[in-house]
Amino acid sequence: MTTMTRPDQKAAAPAPAPATSNHIFREVGLPEDPNNLYSQTVGSMLHGAEVMGLPHYLRLILAQPKNEIMVHFPVKMDDGSFRLFKGYRVQHNNALGPYKGGLRFHHDVHLDDVKSLAFLMTMKCSLVGVPYGGGKGGIKVDPRKHSATEMERIVRRFTTAIAHQIGPDYDIPAPDVGSNSQHMAWIADTYTFLSEIGGSNPTATVTGKPIEYGGSLGREKATGQGVVDTLCEMLPELKLEPKQCTFSVLGFGNVGSWSGKIFQDKGAKLVTVGDHTGFIKNDKGIDAHDLAVYVNKPKSEGGTGGIAGYPKAEKITKEEFYKHKVEVFIPAALEQMIQEPEAEMLNCKVVAEGANAPTTPAGERVLQRRGIEVLPAILCNAGGVTVSYFEWVQNKTFKSWDLERVDGELKKHMIAAAGRTRDARRKYKCDLRTAAYIGALERLQKAYEVRGIFP
Ligand code: GLU
Repeated sequence: MTTMTRPDQKAAAPAPAPATSNHIFREVGLPEDPNNLYSQTVGSMLHGAEVMGLPHYLRLILAQPKNEIMVHFPVKMDDGSFRLFKGYRVQHNNALGPYKGGLRFHHDVHLDDVKSLAFLMTMKCSLVGVPYGGGKGGIKVDPRKHSATEMERIVRRFTTAIAHQIGPDYDIPAPDVGSNSQHMAWIADTYTFLSEIGGSNPTATVTGKPIEYGGSLGREKATGQGVVDTLCEMLPELKLEPKQCTFSVLGFGNVGSWSGKIFQDKGAKLVTVGDHTGFIKNDKGIDAHDLAVYVNKPKSEGGTGGIAGYPKAEKITKEEFYKHKVEVFIPAALEQMIQEPEAEMLNCKVVAEGANAPTTPAGERVLQRRGIEVLPAILCNAGGVTVSYFEWVQNKTFKSWDLERVDGELKKHMIAAAGRTRDARRKYKCDLRTAAYIGALERLQKAYEVRGIFP
């Protein structure tokens, strides 16, 4: 396995991993690279493990994934030429149920990114109380650079390459950055075709499908809904309520736009937005619904592929974006975006992590020093996988739930996960990220205690 720092990642000042994790890193053969995403995420978990006194054998097991699958597969392009693609599926842990987690389609996805994201899924599923383990996959591809017909062949061929490694009771992919419900429909169809004599409903091998083909109501907005459910649950502790909040969103894809729309509908005011195309501000408020329509406009109709050029807000610099005073900041783009410089600039009371691992440990230390509360991703963005679980249950029972039921059940899971996190914080007097890890680890520990280690 190679471990690397993302090429597009700017050099962060070295932030040593917590001393307690160092010997585990050595025992399982992990590099002690403070800028490596996997070292960072596992380091935070090991800190929680130390605080709660998790047995040594569980620290070892959880510090590495069970399986790391890497595939290469050729695909014919529309012009008749062939290209070779690289795909991944990492299965981190299945002690609590089948491996579960999304597929990232991004030109710069590496094995270590996928490992980190798979690890986070194990923690997230445990904390939010769904009967799944953690997995993640991806294809090194820029979906924006391929026609629909090329993407269909890429997705179907990738599914074929990993078909023996997934399944409705074994490993269940879903959408993530760059992938969507159409891609999930192609996966479900390809898997069904390949497993005609398979289980009772092979389409349950993937979630986040279109409603017309086994998808669940409420799944598309689910991660954003979970972010807002968490905020509504946690804000009163900071003597805040949505109606008093201005907020800022970084990344305006699925998670960012839905978080924006739903938080706005609760009375909060969106004032700044940033994405890969630029940064915008309007102190009178940016209508998240209107901005989402603008962002989704095709290029042929004047769309810019992002927020750039949005006529109802002014363009600002990255620095102005981070420094703008808001109550809530929602990072909903990629990992490692809040490093020390961004953390120094932020002028907010709460960071609600809509993305996976958006804050580096060094960035988080700055936020802590500055008294900014962080609602950690394994709590805050667990809404997506929770509604994926509801979709899977609906597929398996051949039933469909109405939106009210989906939203209501989601809220219950989010409130319970927030409660577990708060309980751990109270018991161990720690920060919320450590507490969320402890909440997740406690459930895993109980399962391992009763099931034991084979043989
Ligand atoms: N990709 C989403 C996440 O990171 C959803 C995963 C799923 O639904 O399985 O949580």
